[in-house]
Amino acid sequence: MNLPAIIVHGGAGDWKEDRLPPALEEVEKAAKIGFRILKNGGSALDAAEACTFHMEGCGKLNAGLGARPNRDGVQELDAMIIDGANLRSGAVMAVTGIQHPISLARFAMEKTSHSQFAGDGVKKLYEKMLSEGYRREISPGVTASSFNAQAGDTVGCVTIDLNSHIAATSSTGGIPDKMAGRVGDSSIFGAGAYADDICGATATGWGEHIIRVLLCRTVVSYVEEGADPQAAAERGIGLLQSKTGSQAGVVVADPNGRYGLAMNTKAMPTVVIVGNVNSIRRFVYAKDVPTC
Ligand code: ASP
Repeated sequence: MNLPAIIVHGGAGDWKEDRLPPALEEVEKAAKIGFRILKNGGSALDAAEACTFHMEGCGKLNAGLGARPNRDGVQELDAMIIDGANLRSGAVMAVTGIQHPISLARFAMEKTSHSQFAGDGVKKLYEKMLSEGYRREISPGVTASSFNAQAGDTVGCVTIDLNSHIAATSSTGGIPDKMAGRVGDSSIFGAGAYADDICGATATGWGEHIIRVLLCRTVVSYVEEGADPQAAAERGIGLLQSKTGSQAGVVVADPNGRYGLAMNTKAMPTVVIVGNVNSIRRFVYAKDVPTC
């Protein structure tokens, strides 16, 4: 079997040329961090968190440290993690003052009986995470990595471990010029990401429109119905475009080591590793992605 596998994106959009090489570099580092965990027998969840954690901390992508501020100049972050084995998820919305919402989202999923947190309660949740020792803090708002991972645009990944379990993440600072309190697709289950035991997907683009077609759940359902992941990704983006006229990107992977990616934007830096690190593939521009 062609496992483990990881597919990671650094955001779909109309990228400025000079931002693309450093972005791709960070996406590749993140993919390798996640892949190493998977190859060593780590879980899809551990790999997905560590991979996303790196991208949140690198400062070159629209997530965590590098998140674009809202209209009031404040970074408000949305993030979600999904465990495909049991359809559980954790999400935090419009979070301020922390750098790694993905770890907090995982804490919400694993250590509370709820799946989505917003408002003042997120700060309490963060305090609870620290006080219970789930994660340490290395400076105010900056969670320590628990993975020894060394360390615009939304980031996300789909990981599949050696037991064929799938995880998916998304993490973002949101769209340009967003109003305070605005929450996009990235923390909405089924829209910004989705995973079950058949397939996982994560999306990037204009969240208001991604939500309208529940992009990731829709793409996964195509694979469940027999589509190849590449065909499913293309069909999902086609649906989004025809129903909303908007732009997005989506990456998809399944436990057979199959993957797909599609975008109707200029670029989406993406890295895929399946089975062996030497299989690494990098994609940047829409025009370079082989289509069905
Ligand atoms: N999907 C994100 C949002 O709407 C933005 C992005 O993908 O760049 O918040």
